Amino acid sequence: MRCWWAIRIATSSGSTGSPRRHPGLEEAETLAKIEQRLYRWHCGCSHQKILAAIAPAFRADPEGIFGAGESIRVQCPRCAAAYHLTREAMEAYLAHTHKGGA
Ligand SMILES: [Zn+2]
Repeated sequence: MRCWWAIRIATSSGSTGSPRRHPGLEEAETLAKIEQRLYRWHCGCSHQKILAAIAPAFRADPEGIFGAGESIRVQCPRCAAAYHLTREAMEAYLAHTHKGGA
């Protein structure tokens, strides 16, 4: 998924403007490669961060998140990485955060 995102960025920057108008534009293709690397490592998402993002909504309305199922698939809005969250993991996360506060 992360690779797919990186490839998409490289493709869009490579197709902007008119490629064959100036000879110097060959350099732009080299720049696109460097950009691809930067974006690939930019998103610092993790399973834990996705859990934390969903936690408030799950606490307010567990059925609204999971319905009758035991797990959901969440996609990072930034890098489109897919995470598999189970109801059990969600409850464990809430129990853990509850101990620290209040
Ligand atoms: Zn991400």
